Amino acid sequence: MLAKRTSIISPSVTIGISTKVKELKRQGIEVTSLSIGEPDFFTPDKAKKAAIDAINANKTKYDAASGLLELKEAIVNKLKRDNQVIYTTNEIVVTSGAKHAISNALLAILDPGDQVIIPKPYWTSYPEMVKLINGQPILVDTMAENSFKLQANELLDHVTDKTKALFITNPSNPTGAVYSKEELEPIVNICIEKGIYILADEIYEKIIFGDTFTSIASLSDRAKEITITINGLSKSASMTGWRLGYTASSKTLATAMSSIQGHLVSHPSTITQWAAVEAINNCESDTQNMVSTYNSRRDQVIKMFDAIEDVEIIKPDGAFYTFINISKLRPYFNNVESLSLEVCNILLDKYRLAIVPGIAFGLDDYVRITYAADMKTIETGIDKIKQFIDDLK
Ligand code: PLP
Repeated sequence: MLAKRTSIISPSVTIGISTKVKELKRQGIEVTSLSIGEPDFFTPDKAKKAAIDAINANKTKYDAASGLLELKEAIVNKLKRDNQVIYTTNEIVVTSGAKHAISNALLAILDPGDQVIIPKPYWTSYPEMVKLINGQPILVDTMAENSFKLQANELLDHVTDKTKALFITNPSNPTGAVYSKEELEPIVNICIEKGIYILADEIYEKIIFGDTFTSIASLSDRAKEITITINGLSKSASMTGWRLGYTASSKTLATAMSSIQGHLVSHPSTITQWAAVEAINNCESDTQNMVSTYNSRRDQVIKMFDAIEDVEIIKPDGAFYTFINISKLRPYFNNVESLSLEVCNILLDKYRLAIVPGIAFGLDDYVRITYAADMKTIETGIDKIKQFIDDLK
């Protein structure tokens, strides 16, 4: 008999799609994939070499649960250099990916029944993670005309005496929207006033195409006190498979998270952690090269969608996703349970294009594509979407 918590979570739609794509590929069927949220670049050579050196130097033993001191120092320096926030090493907890950083944070702050506000569209795992820890996800509608960025009144309407935390994903997956300092301030002030933690998921922080990035913890000392910054190297250093994330928070929270992690997993692989020291200290130019490639792809994506009737996109300012409004296609799909799922299934089955249904992010009128793929794949994928729409008419 399985525990009840296994039945309250839904399987990941995104993992379901990639499994289907892998199966088709195994059968020799070619699929254009714009579904996976993973950089299409290799890990920087210097980071790989640091890992190999660590193995050869036998740096392969247990270490501190919260992470290698050298890595926590590198993270502290990075937070000062890039984000203008001063932390000490005992306020950092190194985790096995950002996902793990988020689960540590939720485990440290949530009691059963506590509410966590999650603006829609959201990164697909947040509500399921909250439910797994017996918390209550409160999904909040935001508006397309604000690029789906949460507004102060939308937050205030959902605050109750059970509200414990708010998720802010900046830049956003799935929309690519980036909050400015002025947009963050009113939200953060409400959280300070009401005593609500902010889970600031800044994993896409480096991938921005416009203004400079504002880290929530940098806004003020009081903002820093209530913020648990979530970050990692999966996206910025193309290290998805290495599994390296971290939190920066108050010492009290860091101590609690470190002790939870100490019992559940100890610490991420030491080899990965040595690679991460190098990635954080010496691989900024690799990151910037990736970002400039994403930037030119983004321009092409916008240009191509501008030329397609019946769909509209949220112009992304960061990350490597575009969120596409397909609501005008609804009349062609009467009586389907989920428009976005139906559209994605047809695109995969008939057009051999894998993209992600908006329902996975809480909005069924949308689908998400990623441009973490080479230009030819991106262009082929968007042409297939155009063809699909033309065929509907
Ligand atoms: N947060 C957001 C917004 C993401 O998009 C992702 C990955 O797609 C993660 C967290 C998880 O990152 P990691 O692979 O480091 O666990």
